[in-house]
Amino acid sequence: MRSAPLPSRVLVLNSGSSSVKYQLLDMRDSSRLAVGLVERIGEESSRLKHTPLAANGGESRETAGRIADHEAALKAVAEELAKDGLGLDSPELAAIGHRVVHGGQSFTDPTVIDDSVLDEIERLIPVAPLHNPANLTGIRTAQALRPDLPQVAVFDTAFHTTMPESAARYAIDVKTADEHRIRRYGFHGTSHAYVSRETARLLGKAPDDVNVIVLHLGNGASASAVRGGRCVDTSMGLTPLEGLVMGTRSGDMDPAVIFHLMRVGGMSTDDIDTLLNKKSGLIGLCGDNDMREIRRRIDEGAEDAAPAQLAFDIYIHRLKKYIGAYYAVLGRVDAVVFTAGVGENAAPVREAAVAGLDALGLAVDGERNAVRSDEPRLVSPEGARVAVAVVPTDEELEIANQTYALVRNSNGNGNTNGQARGAGQGHA
Ligand code: AMP
Repeated sequence: MRSAPLPSRVLVLNSGSSSVKYQLLDMRDSSRLAVGLVERIGEESSRLKHTPLAANGGESRETAGRIADHEAALKAVAEELAKDGLGLDSPELAAIGHRVVHGGQSFTDPTVIDDSVLDEIERLIPVAPLHNPANLTGIRTAQALRPDLPQVAVFDTAFHTTMPESAARYAIDVKTADEHRIRRYGFHGTSHAYVSRETARLLGKAPDDVNVIVLHLGNGASASAVRGGRCVDTSMGLTPLEGLVMGTRSGDMDPAVIFHLMRVGGMSTDDIDTLLNKKSGLIGLCGDNDMREIRRRIDEGAEDAAPAQLAFDIYIHRLKKYIGAYYAVLGRVDAVVFTAGVGENAAPVREAAVAGLDALGLAVDGERNAVRSDEPRLVSPEGARVAVAVVPTDEELEIANQTYALVRNSNGNGNTNGQARGAGQGHA
């Protein structure tokens, strides 16, 4: 029996505690029809910036004034979309794909949302207190606006659920760990999935045949070791605090620092949480979390260049340690790939991260590394044993692809396009 053709649009929603980012895509050619952002929800100075890329000459529109809550925010977004004939009530809309930060061990794949899925995302709030409540609010609001439409959750943690226990477990008492769901979950999964697959494409190989170290260096930063398309280790853990030096997060450190700050420094749990998540990393080391500003201070030999240089050196030292560690985990590496704001744009970071690693087959070519481009590209010298690449990430496209593959599959319109691993199996 033939089913009706599936409509072609997917709305991707990324709901934060006080913001909603969105993109409307046409899945026939993966083009963006509209993108936008609602900021400072609940404050007097809320702002909606909407860019209808496929209408009105792509001119952005801004609306200022209080937007009370997520429901009001989504309604305002729906109104903006409707002005260009792209409203949420359009029969062309196939599904809404939601970024959900924490799927724990339960969600290994994108999942069509029903009440049991909502309950499980809610049960995971203790391990994602900042993110999952906002994601849930976004989902519930979207469901209220279009109860008939498939809504799909795409989890930041899902790509990392293939990690072996040896990488996913902390070496702490197993009973305590299990009781409190303490293990290494990893984040930025949609980016690591997308970038590792695009790297295989850049190398002209199948994802199954390629071992890749992905360095997602944005304001948040994480590394992953991907063997044949499956994640075998990643640097973030129970929360996004573990691993690399980030814009405002410390990354790895001796957990005893926390006991010391409590016992000797008299700090509260919340103070330490804020210190390590918001006031550490690059900003804690030198007062800036923007790599552009840090490089400017260093390159201009500014009066405050020394702390900027120290912050840069610590950032690079940690990065090198992870490249070395994941090289050892993978055994054979085909590519080291840089992505996200810093990874895609900061040539000095790429150069410094692989400097001196010639023995591992790693090097960058100065001219190639200096090229600025939005395209995936190699920055290693011609014929290098291990490719060093820059691959721009696209988390929204990945969420849209996974969402569309899942609804297409459930609609009986053919198989998944391979981008939703095991799509349709739901959660365990
Ligand atoms: P993301 O979280 O991926 O949006 O990355 C944001 C970060 O990328 C900023 O905080 C900057 O540190 C960094 N970034 C963006 N553009 C550049 C650039 N041209 N050069 C160096 N770093 C950049």
